[in-house]
Amino acid sequence: MRFDDSPVDTSQLEDRRGGRRAGRGLAIGGGGAGLVGVLVYLLVALLGGGSGDPAGTDVGTGRGALPAGDIAARCATAGALDEYDDCFVLKVFNEVNEVWAAQFQQTGQSYQLPTLVYFDDAVSTGCGTASAQVGPFYCPPDERVYIDLGFLRQLQEQYGAQGRYAQAYIVAHEVGHHLQTITGTEQRTRDAQQADPARENELSVQLELQADCYAGVWSTLANRGGNVTITEADLDEALGAAEAVGDDRIQAGAGVEVDPESWTHGSAAQRRASFLTGYQGATAGSCGTVPA
Ligand SMILES: [Zn+2]
Repeated sequence: MRFDDSPVDTSQLEDRRGGRRAGRGLAIGGGGAGLVGVLVYLLVALLGGGSGDPAGTDVGTGRGALPAGDIAARCATAGALDEYDDCFVLKVFNEVNEVWAAQFQQTGQSYQLPTLVYFDDAVSTGCGTASAQVGPFYCPPDERVYIDLGFLRQLQEQYGAQGRYAQAYIVAHEVGHHLQTITGTEQRTRDAQQADPARENELSVQLELQADCYAGVWSTLANRGGNVTITEADLDEALGAAEAVGDDRIQAGAGVEVDPESWTHGSAAQRRASFLTGYQGATAGSCGTVPA
């Protein structure tokens, strides 16, 4: 994949690694909205990160985890997007938002930008405190995407999803949850879950698959708009990643029984198919309505 030449935009970044704060540097209160009924959309089911794996020790092992300094200046240097994970993820985040903002504008809607938070170890969010072991997630009440960059290595080594576009898919998926939040889909889904707890997992799967679909839509629109140039190999990486984080794969990898009733994100086949639906449909509408 290749990016356009626009510099990274740090205005929606909060760097909380090692206690640092950058960007707007807003502190989030630990309590409040996170208490009751708030869903944290974890990319990776908790059970996948269990069994004593050393996920939490990945922090600080990649070059992307070097002290941030002036991220904007460092990310503007030649080769920075390849070399530094924090530059790469921020650039993807920028491009995902740029595409969705343009889409919203076309229909006369304003697009409220989400914030990207880098953290390591643990982080206090509007959805409560989260450990790096849960993987990247989006928190609806504070409209933030939280990423411990150590996950990028985990994605490759533990889940076997290779390549930069696999990582881009993860970022686009999380921003997909932001779309669901600002359009009311997330709230409607949560209401439906509360009204019918027996459907909680099924509705969660619908929401997650729609976020995968949005990642596919973004890929096509970004490619068309020149934000990102995607090759067939990139597409394969994204599809491979969508499969790698399927609930059946994660359960099998964790050595537990593969139980569709317990799924919250969808199977490898479902996640792959949803990404492709969006990739081929190329409109948010092609990702359907949730709850269905
Ligand atoms: Zn998700």
